Amino acid sequence: DLPVVVLVGRPNVGKSTLFNRLTDTRDALVADRPGVTRDRQYGVVRAGERRFLVVDTGGLGVDDAEIDALAAAQTDIALAEAHAVVFLVDGRDGLLPGDLAIADRLRHLTVPVYPVVNKTEGRIAEEAVAEFHALGMGAPDAISASHGGRIEALIQRLVADL
Ligand code: GDP
Ligand code: MG
Repeated sequence: DLPVVVLVGRPNVGKSTLFNRLTDTRDALVADRPGVTRDRQYGVVRAGERRFLVVDTGGLGVDDAEIDALAAAQTDIALAEAHAVVFLVDGRDGLLPGDLAIADRLRHLTVPVYPVVNKTEGRIAEEAVAEFHALGMGAPDAISASHGGRIEALIQRLVADL
C-alpha cells in the first residue's frame, strides 16, 4: 500500500491546483468559488522510484459552516488515513483566523504536518513565509501551485519522511 499524503486548508488556498500539479492531471476541479471540492480525490505522485498517494479534500473552515458539511466529513475521513498532512495556506491572504483554527485541529495528529504557503510566485521565499511561523509547526515551504514554483522541492521533502 502506498503512503497517503492529505492536502488540508481553508477553501480557495489552492489545494486542488496543487493536487493537479502533484499528480500531473487536471482531475481536481479548480475554481474561484470556495468549496467546489466535496469528495475526496486520490492521485498518485511519482518521485523517481518512489510513489505516494495524495488526497485532495474540500478542506476545513473555521467552524465548518464556512464549507459544505460533506466536504468537512470527507476531510476528516482523509485525515484518519493520513501518513502525512500538507497544511496549505494562502500567502496572498496572509495568516487568517481560519488557518489558526485548522492548525489547532491538526496539532493533535500523530503524523507529520507540513505547513506550505501557496501563491508565493514572484516573492522571496523567506519573506513569503515569515508570518506563518506563528502556526508553530516549523519552517513552512513556499510554493506556487499554479505557476509550478518549488513543487519538486516539496515532493522531495515529503518523500524523505514517508
Ligand atoms: P481549493 O479550494 O483550496 O481547492 O483551491 P483551488 O485549487 O480551487 O484554487 C483557488 C483559486 O486559487 C483558483 O483561482 C486558483 O487558480 C488560484 N490559485 C491556486 N494556486 C495558485 C498559486 O500558486 N498562485 C496564484 N496566484 N493563484 C493560485
Ligand atoms: Mg478544491
